[in-house]
Amino acid sequence: MARVFAGAGHRLVGPGDVADLYVFNTCAVTHVAARKSRQVIRQMRRANPNAAVVATGCYAQLSPQEVAALGVDMVVSNEDKDRLPQLVAEAGLLHDADPIPAPDAAFLPNTPLDDGGSHTRAFVKVQDGCDNRCTFCIVTVARGAGRSRPLPDVIAEINRLAELGYQEAVLSGVHLGSYGHDLGAGHGLYQLVKTILAETDLPRLRLSSLEPWDLDADFFELWRNERLLPHLHLPLQSGCDDTLRRMARRTSQAEFSQLVREARAAIPDLSVTTDIIVGFPGETDAEFEQSLNFVNEIEFAKLHVFRYSRRAGTSAAKMRGQVADSVVQQRSQHMHTLNAQLEESFRRRFVGRQMPVLWESNEPYGFGLQWSGLTGNYLRVVTQTNPQANLRNQVIPTKLVDTVPAALLGQLPASVAGNSTGLPVLRVIA
Ligand code: SF4
Repeated sequence: MARVFAGAGHRLVGPGDVADLYVFNTCAVTHVAARKSRQVIRQMRRANPNAAVVATGCYAQLSPQEVAALGVDMVVSNEDKDRLPQLVAEAGLLHDADPIPAPDAAFLPNTPLDDGGSHTRAFVKVQDGCDNRCTFCIVTVARGAGRSRPLPDVIAEINRLAELGYQEAVLSGVHLGSYGHDLGAGHGLYQLVKTILAETDLPRLRLSSLEPWDLDADFFELWRNERLLPHLHLPLQSGCDDTLRRMARRTSQAEFSQLVREARAAIPDLSVTTDIIVGFPGETDAEFEQSLNFVNEIEFAKLHVFRYSRRAGTSAAKMRGQVADSVVQQRSQHMHTLNAQLEESFRRRFVGRQMPVLWESNEPYGFGLQWSGLTGNYLRVVTQTNPQANLRNQVIPTKLVDTVPAALLGQLPASVAGNSTGLPVLRVIA
């Protein structure tokens, strides 16, 4: 959306800056997400009574009246998100603005790297919607059937990102693995990634979440090209076959383990991260134990733990055996504890190695700066430099010398970092 607005001649401002127009991309993935969406809109409305406020995204799509009642000027459906500047102009929400040209549908220029934002990775949306029906998922109701962006558009965008100086792009979609299914024979994620690697020079390409059932073993051949980063986010959701069946997930413990084995054999230093839901309806103590043990066996590099949240409109909401909140809370704590152990043990494997790090952001620290960045296999790395050093958006081979809470400590050549601040790392900026 930021790109669409920038492409239509608007100036983007940073977080906390005053704007004429605020656009909220609301989320409905859990009750908590919907509640936070409401809170933020209310706060922003109160703090900026004269600004125009627009809401879009899945919560706005599913509950437009609830969202309209928060005092927003317009609610825009997910389908119409790409036409936001036109819709805002047509509704007369920006009175003093210049006439707004329609965005070029074939190519939307990206936000410049120096926009003041903290991101150096560009997210390239190649797909939207999903044809699966996981029983807990409201997103598929909000986003509709799967549809893919034409390959030439994606290539044009990534080439433009490379021209703008981006070092890394992340291919994203609601169901990325289904990319191309609607585009006819010869189109698919394999073809997409292969073509991007062949026809663009972007140094680093990362894939966002991929459903495990979408990948064949020959998919991993793509990683022979080192520009494709060794990181797979494969949402498992539960490590128990019975729970997986009730979730209508098209995978099992055996299939998932086999897939991860093949991926690790083909991709050096691979990090495999996942999403896990705890407290799904009918999840007994024994099922949860199984899930916990399986997650431990797979040795994920990182878990995103979600407490099951009942969403009206999903079939899981109507299932018997809804788990008490206190039990869900306890299981979540267990899974978080396991996550901390798994993360630390994955990080430890890389102490002593030198790896390229894309440095992203900094914050003042002592008399210098503390920088934060990511390796190709998604390890968070922090380092300290003198106040003049500017590592932003640079990929620099970095010696990983130790682990610190939630990250690895990186050491840069003195020619890059200047004199060390001499202070211990106290906290990690993500
Ligand atoms: S594959 Fe993902 S987006 Fe599709 S229904 Fe399942 S959880 Fe939802």
